[in-house]
Amino acid sequence: MVSIRKLHQQLVDKERSAVEIATETLERIEVLEQKIRSFLHVTPERALEQAKLVDEKIAANQEIGLLEGIPIGIKDNMCTQGIRTTCGSKILANFVPPYESTVTGKLQQAGAIMVGKTNLDEFAMGSSTENSAYQMTANPWDLSRVPGGSSGGSAAAVAASQCTVALGSDTGGSIRQPASFCGVFGMKPTYGLVSRYGLVAYASSLDQIGPFSRNVEDAGILLGAIAGYDKKDSTSLKIEIPDYTKNLKPDFKSRRKLRIGVIQETFGPGLDEVVQEKVQQAIAQLQELGAEIQEISCPRFSYGLPVYYIIAPSEASANLARYDGVKYGVRYPGDNLGEMYSKTRAAGFGEEVKRRIMLGTYTLSAGYYDAYYLKAQKVRTLIKQDFESAFEKVDVLVCPTSPGTAFKAGEKTGDPLSMYLSDLMTIPVNLAGLPAASVPCGFDNQGLPIGIQLISNVLREDLLFQVAYAYEQSTNWHLKEPPLTV
Ligand code: GLN
Repeated sequence: MVSIRKLHQQLVDKERSAVEIATETLERIEVLEQKIRSFLHVTPERALEQAKLVDEKIAANQEIGLLEGIPIGIKDNMCTQGIRTTCGSKILANFVPPYESTVTGKLQQAGAIMVGKTNLDEFAMGSSTENSAYQMTANPWDLSRVPGGSSGGSAAAVAASQCTVALGSDTGGSIRQPASFCGVFGMKPTYGLVSRYGLVAYASSLDQIGPFSRNVEDAGILLGAIAGYDKKDSTSLKIEIPDYTKNLKPDFKSRRKLRIGVIQETFGPGLDEVVQEKVQQAIAQLQELGAEIQEISCPRFSYGLPVYYIIAPSEASANLARYDGVKYGVRYPGDNLGEMYSKTRAAGFGEEVKRRIMLGTYTLSAGYYDAYYLKAQKVRTLIKQDFESAFEKVDVLVCPTSPGTAFKAGEKTGDPLSMYLSDLMTIPVNLAGLPAASVPCGFDNQGLPIGIQLISNVLREDLLFQVAYAYEQSTNWHLKEPPLTV
């Protein structure tokens, strides 16, 4: 398995050049795209240009950072200056941002090589990447199945080694759920840890950018590079960013007791039997490594889903008002302004996006606001309080990432409610602004990956990485490769 450290060492030892690594990666993308379609656009010119700069530094015997020369995929809802950013929507088909998002700017500074922009559900709304207006992405473990979503392109690209690491965004599970479906590591940081400047807004109080990788340490390196205060994002936290790769140990025996809580409410009906079995085995493994396991109840956990489907569409209906054919993207002409607006929005947005705009407009309208939006905000506070009291008793919470494994393409497209259910276990985390990760913990009988979700208290990403690392090192799930032939 490739890793950032391995590639870095090869570069430093001059075994391979950055241009060679980039070229090989671009070739692999080209071959595999016929099957997987994880990229909306590949950016070979920018990649090779940047790789050359890294090679020049190496040739001049200058020190290079860990991310220099590392191929990375970027979800196509992060603005990249001069490079088309479509958000998986027809309405942004021709949008070329005049500015760079903070995260991609930081990665460019760090010398990472962006190889392309990855596919997603339109405006990050979905759980299967089937809502993309452009293409469907296949799950590298079984091409007839979805990669999860909305960051399905990034998850599939990392699983298929089309890039070493990738960025996704997570509003209700869009990093963790596809990570679990594709058998890779994915994490959503504490709300405010990573700047949202230049991330196309879906639901601003929930959106966070985070890493996908094949191993825990790589995600720690990537998060360290993108986290930090940004004055361009008013919700950005002013804190010191620790080194997330420090203190990664193979077990918990050398530290003060590590208490892990198992969220009882996530083990009810609706959970796949094999997912339950594998997650329980992973919990036993954590105990073996020295953790103390407790049962924890978060009584309002299951209210997360209905609360989310009021709050997220409400925010989305406000955020998406800006796509009117005037300020951004595509315009469909009409005889007057009103007609132009409605024609543009009718043709530019897909079905799911329209459904959410309607839902959100309804829940925010006079007469319904108190009954829906305000009530949902109150329940959101209760869900947060459940987590707060849980973290008085334990250090990390665990549960399945998703109730099932990757489903067949088309299986849930006609039934939005069953699609929404795949985020049942990830959504409460966003409502509470907490960090959480999905770690590969086995396969079902059809060879499809399963993930265990780890949740920690606000800004305790360090703990999350430590637990995930120890677990990962004691298993070999992350070393398994999808059955793809190039
Ligand atoms: N699947 C959820 C939704 O459709 C979450 C999406 C996300 O996290 N961006 O809204």
